[in-house]
Amino acid sequence: MTMELKIISMDERKRIVLIAHDNCKTDLLDWVAYNRETLGKHHLFATGTTGELIARQTGLEVNRFLSGPLGGDQQVGGSIAEGRMDIVIFFWDPLEPQPHDVDVKALLRIAVVYNVPIACNRASADFLLSSPLISQPYERLLPLWRFRNGFHD
Ligand code: PGA
Repeated sequence: MTMELKIISMDERKRIVLIAHDNCKTDLLDWVAYNRETLGKHHLFATGTTGELIARQTGLEVNRFLSGPLGGDQQVGGSIAEGRMDIVIFFWDPLEPQPHDVDVKALLRIAVVYNVPIACNRASADFLLSSPLISQPYERLLPLWRFRNGFHD
């Protein structure tokens, strides 16, 4: 039996979204500074506060969504569903409840639904960014059964 697949093409220049909860922002900023050169080759996006800090501290150009608790995580999820994000680096805080926990869960879920590479801690982010695929075109495969009601391209 062959599985019907939908292909989503990713360029060599990836659209990477960066998000960190408050207790994890220092860690993400440190990681971004360390990987500044590689990240500078891609299109960067972030939730509001994370993006402001990255831009200020590294000089990288970052397209900003709203702040996470004010709808930013939902905007990121919507962008993934519309095929406008390629990679998510999300340092979410495993030790503190968040006012927008439901939005966080929704974002993690939609990333998995669309087979988007997602790193939720620093080691995973290292592995993701150092993959040869980060600088090559890549075809993300989605099982069509998951989208019974169809895509709107
Ligand atoms: P922030 O949002 O970058 O605006 O702090 C992050 C989040 O909590 O999702």
